[in-house]
Amino acid sequence: MTEPQSSSHIQIPSRAPSATAADDTVMPFEVAPLDLRGRVVRLGPLIDQILQRHAYPDPVAKLLAEAVVLTVMLGTALKIDGRFILQTQSDGPVRMLVVDFIAPDKVRACARFDKNRVAEAMAAGQADGGALLGKGHLAMTIDQGPDMSRYQGLVALDGGSLEEAAHEYFLRSEQIPTRVRLAVAEEFSAGKGGAKHRWRAGGILLQFLPKSPERARVADLHPGDAPEGTAMHTVKEDEAWVEGRALIETVEDVELVDPALSSERLVYRLFHERGVRVFRASEVSGECSCSRENVETMLKSFSQDDRDHMVEDGRISVTCEFCSANYEFAPHEVGAKAE
Ligand SMILES: [Zn+2]
Repeated sequence: MTEPQSSSHIQIPSRAPSATAADDTVMPFEVAPLDLRGRVVRLGPLIDQILQRHAYPDPVAKLLAEAVVLTVMLGTALKIDGRFILQTQSDGPVRMLVVDFIAPDKVRACARFDKNRVAEAMAAGQADGGALLGKGHLAMTIDQGPDMSRYQGLVALDGGSLEEAAHEYFLRSEQIPTRVRLAVAEEFSAGKGGAKHRWRAGGILLQFLPKSPERARVADLHPGDAPEGTAMHTVKEDEAWVEGRALIETVEDVELVDPALSSERLVYRLFHERGVRVFRASEVSGECSCSRENVETMLKSFSQDDRDHMVEDGRISVTCEFCSANYEFAPHEVGAKAE
């Protein structure tokens, strides 16, 4: 890792960074001298449970885990009472990813994909996140209940990664210079009955939030397919942001998923020269919010005809797409006609 080149030392930390790594947590931090704020997400048992339950092909599981990290990173920063939903819809082998964050601390996720196309992509060695998603869009929705207006942010997916989509979103929609790093890994350990594997995931978000908005101007991502001779719009980026972005780009995947490296140590490694302040980490859980009552309410909201058509072998059976829990109803319980 490269050290920041700076002579001005402003030391805020009053204690050594904790060596204890805590899984399934989100830790906010601030580098005040550079006007930077961020969050570190570490997911252990939570992501392992979600992915093991689905048993998707590995590249799909990995992509979904990235989406979960991103959702947790953004969802925990919102002071909302409700849900934050990240959803992709695209033409690649993975048609849809849905990650549902239920404030303040629950997350669940699922993917819809074409088995054959995923297998083909894997065989062709083209199963990275961007290739699996293809073209389409990523939507982020805040849902605070029926009486509140829904907020939806949209960003195009164009064969790039979720990280790139997040950068594009913050640049275009929020005008906040942002860098996101997402990492997913499988951890293998020897155990009874052979090697066991567990999923881990992590990420770091960094945002430049200067008091004067003109400092937040950033250069265009790339010239794109502008015709030759088009003058490039050049903006001199603020030095604080240039420094922060350069530091975040030195973060390696292994540092984001290493169970032995605490979030505090990670941000200290990156920003100790400038002085980094950490805030209390909050916990997240992978518990699904589905319940028999919710499913019953949903079924009762369907039209009579739809309900009648759901009856099979004298029962209505509903499986939660997020956690695979199965709920069975007798037709009369939800006002459907028996066959
Ligand atoms: Zn469920």
